[in-house]
Amino acid sequence: MNTDLKQRIESLLEETENKGVRLVAATKTVCPEIINEAVSYGIKTIGENRVQELLEKYDKIDKRNIEIHFIGKLQTNKVKYIIDKVDLIHSVDSLKLGQVINKYAAEYGKIQEILIEVNVSGEETKGGIAPDELEQLLVSLSKLDNIKVRGLMCIPSVEKIPGENKRFFDLLYKLLVDNNNKNIDNIYMDILSMGMSGDYLTAISSGATMVRVGTKIFGQRNYTEV
Ligand SMILES: *Cc1c(COP(=O)(O)O)cnc(C)c1O
Repeated sequence: MNTDLKQRIESLLEETENKGVRLVAATKTVCPEIINEAVSYGIKTIGENRVQELLEKYDKIDKRNIEIHFIGKLQTNKVKYIIDKVDLIHSVDSLKLGQVINKYAAEYGKIQEILIEVNVSGEETKGGIAPDELEQLLVSLSKLDNIKVRGLMCIPSVEKIPGENKRFFDLLYKLLVDNNNKNIDNIYMDILSMGMSGDYLTAISSGATMVRVGTKIFGQRNYTEV
């Protein structure tokens, strides 16, 4: 038994799930054995961000009591490999990707729940749709029968000063509320996925309903690329 892992998970659950915020364990580079151990300590949701890695680990992950989310950049040609494996896709940022997910979800016979990734920090290198293009995307996606938009997600850069990302999280919260009030057919969003190891408390204070935490659960990964 890994008492450090158990303790880290218990104290995080205290700050999140016990306050009604879903804790998604970001499990990139984490092997299935450790994932299963984390689940035994109370993790209920895991988030993978590479299709290949998810496929390699999938059979060895104990899936009885967990949800699997896809949180990384998703290429349209990889959607077909994960459509039967994931409960929520956090990172939809184009109509094209939404259409492909809709197509494979229809073939598989499910309604795929998705979040829209918004580029709240406006950095050119970041994924996500621009805030001022969000409404149009939601209107277009609302016409697709086999996807359901559940909310919004963002990945601002790691905070250099504590609280620095608050303005971005506040913006995502506002976008969720504003778009819910527009009464777009079939769009009512209730999930805000924001905050990682360095800023999840900031995100929760801005209304996050879901945080994605890796390092603070599993320790430093041996690579820095996200
Ligand atoms: C890795 C990752 C996280 C978790 O990041 P940490 O800083 O390790 O907590 C969250 N979201 C996404 C999309 C990630 O790729």
